[in-house]
Amino acid sequence: MSAFAYRDGELHAEGVALSAIAARFGTPCYVYSRAELEGAWRAFDAAFEGLPHLVCYAMKANSNLAILDLYARLGSGFDIVSGGELARVIAAGGDPGKVVFSGVGKTDAEMAQALEAGILCFNVESEGELDRLADVAARLGRRAPVSFRVNPDVDPKTHPYIATGLKESKFGVAFDDAPRLYRKAARSPHVAVHGLDIHIGSQITDLAPYRESASKVLDLVDRLRADGIALAHIDLGGGLGIRYRDEAPVPLPEYAAMLRGLFAGRPERLLFEPGRRLVGGAGVLLTRVLYLKPGAAKSFAIVDAAMNDLMRPALYDAWHPVDPVRPRAGGERLWEIVGPVCESGDFLARDRRLALAPGDLLAVGAAGAYAMAMSSNYNTRTRACEVLVDDSRMQLVRRRERCEELFALENRLP
Ligand SMILES: *Cc1c(COP(=O)(O)O)cnc(C)c1O
Repeated sequence: MSAFAYRDGELHAEGVALSAIAARFGTPCYVYSRAELEGAWRAFDAAFEGLPHLVCYAMKANSNLAILDLYARLGSGFDIVSGGELARVIAAGGDPGKVVFSGVGKTDAEMAQALEAGILCFNVESEGELDRLADVAARLGRRAPVSFRVNPDVDPKTHPYIATGLKESKFGVAFDDAPRLYRKAARSPHVAVHGLDIHIGSQITDLAPYRESASKVLDLVDRLRADGIALAHIDLGGGLGIRYRDEAPVPLPEYAAMLRGLFAGRPERLLFEPGRRLVGGAGVLLTRVLYLKPGAAKSFAIVDAAMNDLMRPALYDAWHPVDPVRPRAGGERLWEIVGPVCESGDFLARDRRLALAPGDLLAVGAAGAYAMAMSSNYNTRTRACEVLVDDSRMQLVRRRERCEELFALENRLP
């Protein structure tokens, strides 16, 4: 059961009415459920009980320190994509020794920062990166732990912007090139070969591409072992989808059973990099209706959240559920739920049958992942605040920005 449910005619987050959160902290406001966040992590971890594994939360999905803190306390590792994310892990009390560093464009400074912090592994995405990393490690007198992110050329059947494992994608090294790169890395005194990594895409709702890529990878791992290159871990990436509308997410037990069939009894530890699956369903964006503009062709409900707060609808044409916090009886019609930003692409939802009045609160659901994390200050809009609900307690985990802060780094002409 979701932590977001109606009680006494009103939508709650766990034991707290969303209207109470809006009254105390204002809108727009992201609201997260601690029980959902922790429950999702525990369920993921428990699915692989008995297989040596480490869950490395892909924190770009939602990098609020409070969420990282919760996961660090559960023993989570983290998948990072920048030096900034590493700084967040450390600030949140996470263990750098459980951090894997992904991304196609790591800078020298980020490599040095991660080497000094003692991360678990670099997921290397090109030969140029391998050479650069070896140089940086040599300069620091360290040996860099590496995996290659191998591109298995598998179609995850998801939105093209979030498919990452196809041949034409910018991510990873070509499958056929991997053996040569592993041999090169194994010869280098400045890197230590630890593992192999794949990540084929995001919001995947089909088990087949996972099976296909995992089997391909196993072949490669065995060939490397025969070549004298034994890997300590295999990182299977993230990408498991969630339900936004009517998708049927892959059940964790099915995913785990498929992997058990392939990996049980093998010497390599499995790493996972789930992002959306852990946090996506654990958040809502709370927004208030400012104006209603009923029209002959389209009717617009203008709300106080916009594409700068939640970019997914504008970016991917993503569908998020929109639920009234206190549903009204009767008077429904179709609404376009739009924000105040000066762009026609500024919509949160289209064609929603709702009974609305100005001042009503709406909850945009499944907004825990790639939501606040992708927000911006476009139109000089302060970013939403974030509140974590734990049973009947609400805690502000990021206060609303102040307008002066948005231009505090800028200078007028002398
Ligand atoms: C974004 C990303 C993830 C997480 O993807 P989800 O779809 O949120 O699970 C994992 N690994 C890498 C390398 C990523 O870039």
